[in-house]
Amino acid sequence: MLPAMNRELLTLEPSGIRRFTALARATPGCAMLTIGEPDLNTPEPIKTACKQALDANKTHYPVNAGDLELRQAVCAFEAARNGYDYAENEVLITHGATEALFVAMRGVLNPGDEVIVPTPAFGLYETIARLAGAVVVPLDTARTGFQIDEAALQAAITPKTKLLVLNSPNNPTGVVYTQATLEGVRRAVEGRPIFVLCDDVYSQLVYAPCPLFARFRALREQLLVVQSFSKPYAMTGWRMGYLMGDARVIEKLLLYHAATVVSVASYAQDACIEALRQDVAPTVRLYRARRDRMLAALDAMGLPAARPEGAFYVFPSIARYGLSSEEFCTRAITEGRVAAVPGSCFGAEGYIRLSYCCSAEQIDTALARLAAFLKTL
Ligand code: PLP
Repeated sequence: MLPAMNRELLTLEPSGIRRFTALARATPGCAMLTIGEPDLNTPEPIKTACKQALDANKTHYPVNAGDLELRQAVCAFEAARNGYDYAENEVLITHGATEALFVAMRGVLNPGDEVIVPTPAFGLYETIARLAGAVVVPLDTARTGFQIDEAALQAAITPKTKLLVLNSPNNPTGVVYTQATLEGVRRAVEGRPIFVLCDDVYSQLVYAPCPLFARFRALREQLLVVQSFSKPYAMTGWRMGYLMGDARVIEKLLLYHAATVVSVASYAQDACIEALRQDVAPTVRLYRARRDRMLAALDAMGLPAARPEGAFYVFPSIARYGLSSEEFCTRAITEGRVAAVPGSCFGAEGYIRLSYCCSAEQIDTALARLAAFLKTL
């Protein structure tokens, strides 16, 4: 007899992104615009720092929160870049942003709590909220240029609201929240017992000034800030990230982290110190050129998209074709040999996500196929 498993876990399905990537991979010669990771390799100095750490036998249990040197490097980096005033005991080194999100959300949510998630959104927020028995309250931003409308946010807040998720630059839209949007959010949450989870993993990959909510230092006690080494330094496989928050919150979240993973790998932490010394400007220039190439091609084929000012995604509307985003993407793969991710995977119907984590030639091939496919509809 198969014993029953956890109720919340049983409600989960594999991510739609993986499903569409698998379908594309099974289609010979399909051009992929589904990938959400840099096509670049980890820079040599970062790899060298890791090799040196291994040669020095840095292979023993590290302290739970992460090496003091790395946490100090993070504090200095965040102070210089964003003006944040986090101390070493307010930083937790995690297994990617994924674990930081998990620890932060599981650590503050109780069953029945409400989590406001502006949509379209990265699917992991809903997954973790559900595992915690919390209730996701989607806040549609599609009608307001993917910016959060202050009145809509105010209306979504109830006495059960525990957490608001902010992700800017956003996956899947690439849109950056304006300062006016963030001011509106501040007015909505200030003085209320609500945590604001800032998933800022794309904040270094920006093509215009990027206001950040966590710069409102007066709201320090409510802030949980998530960062990743994956995207800016092409380190997705290293699984390294960090979480910052008020000392009293981090002290407790550390217990969750220690009970779940103990700590991150010892030797990888030296690599992260080196990563924080890297200049990401050449990477940003490369992505910006690809973004411009993609926007020009989409414009030429008449697919309207909000202008992405960060990350490596564009989220055009396919509404005028009258197909669901799943149907559109399935047919694009099987009939047009080009793969995109349906907007439905991010809680937004009528859109597709295109990623420009690939060479200019691949972008050109994929978009030529997309243009040809559109003509058949
Ligand atoms: N947050 C967002 C918005 C993402 O897009 C991703 C990865 O795609 C993550 C978090 C997870 O990043 P990591 O590789 O650091 O776990």
